[in-house]
Amino acid sequence: MRISKRLTALIFVLLVLSLAGCSSSTSAVKIKSSKDITFFVATDVHYLAESLTDKGEAYQKFISSDGRQLNYISEIVDAFSNDIKKKKADVLIVSGDLTTNGEKKSHLEFAKKLKKIEEGGTSVFVIPGNHDIMNPFARGFKDSNQYVVDYINEKNFEKIYKDFGYNEAISRDTNTLSYLASPSEDVWLLMLDTAQYKDNLEKNRPGLDGEINPGTLEWIKKCSDLAKKNNAQIIAVMHHNLIDHSESIKEGFTINNSTAVLQLFKNCGIKLVLSGHTHQQDIKSYSKDKYKVYDVVTSALVVYPQKYGVLKYSPKDGFDYSTSSVDVEGWAKEHAVKDENLNNFKVYSEEYYKAALYHNTINRFLMDDSATSDEAKLMAETSALIRTKYLGDTSMFDKQVIMNSQGYKLLTEFGAQKNLTRMLNSDNTGNNRLQIPVP
Ligand code: FE
Ligand code: MN
Repeated sequence: MRISKRLTALIFVLLVLSLAGCSSSTSAVKIKSSKDITFFVATDVHYLAESLTDKGEAYQKFISSDGRQLNYISEIVDAFSNDIKKKKADVLIVSGDLTTNGEKKSHLEFAKKLKKIEEGGTSVFVIPGNHDIMNPFARGFKDSNQYVVDYINEKNFEKIYKDFGYNEAISRDTNTLSYLASPSEDVWLLMLDTAQYKDNLEKNRPGLDGEINPGTLEWIKKCSDLAKKNNAQIIAVMHHNLIDHSESIKEGFTINNSTAVLQLFKNCGIKLVLSGHTHQQDIKSYSKDKYKVYDVVTSALVVYPQKYGVLKYSPKDGFDYSTSSVDVEGWAKEHAVKDENLNNFKVYSEEYYKAALYHNTINRFLMDDSATSDEAKLMAETSALIRTKYLGDTSMFDKQVIMNSQGYKLLTEFGAQKNLTRMLNSDNTGNNRLQIPVP
């Protein structure tokens, strides 16, 4: 009895210390109150270290099934850091899936690039995604073979990214790699580790789904209290989604205990969540009583059209989120890069993505016995075209031409047009722009 009382008292003291302890010891330059802030928001970089691939047969096979632009991920990140420098971002947030499959070498190489971004004057904050930690799928590629390479554990992650959140944290969750950071006096970042990697080795695969465990929920409440005391607003950042983003993308994407988390966020007054994981730009909201929260999914940096979010905060106008694409072409020209694909990156990246989608869907249409192979090709082409344009610039849609096309007519006949029609009719602006005024 006595011991448990003492223990309780000790835990209490430790908690107070962990919450209030090191806020003055942060070396990072803090943005003073009442200043405008520009946050850059990137997610799902899926970096692959250059030394892990010879770009040979096994690698080509690995990337062909996928729309991720891994061929040029190193150049994309360099061009992105060029954008960050030019546009003078105060803060860069990367919300998980930093690496392809959690390879140690990819983490180390990506962290080096983040270091350069910080040296340019932008504070970087990262959290892990479902691919980053204890991932038994970590591989390198040589000739026609994949070979097993080192992955990392939680401790390694914290060490590799110590300069990108963990050393600056004003509070650390003891259960996960979640932390609270205060890059500015007005806006704090609640960086949540929602990935479930504890059973990965046992199951011999990385877990897909996300969750916030009960201990972390309690810690979040304390973070919120601390922020309120300091008149700071909180933005929550997590890899998995808070809210369902479509009928087909929810299980394994939206956190398993979203009802409990929504309730907690409502109590805490958290209005803005930045997430990733689906690789598709999308904004959804949830309202109850007078409370409203937005879950903003930024498109994957590795996927066409290499989008990132620009979140501006001003004490007068509140938050303004919009999207932009990495200027790879501009970077290639400035650095006199010879590669034709990089000098014409917009077209190259679009064609690459469209081709990947085509290959991914053609088999599905071929499996439908009633479709001839010509019909399957036409449907796959139209489907890939609509989905690529939807990710890119919907103003480029020539809707009438697409709807009159043979492929579209066939898709309708085969009942496979529903999702595509939605994309075709959407102007997509609402997924790329959000304003949250000061209440
Ligand atoms: Fe991802
Ligand atoms: Mn993911």
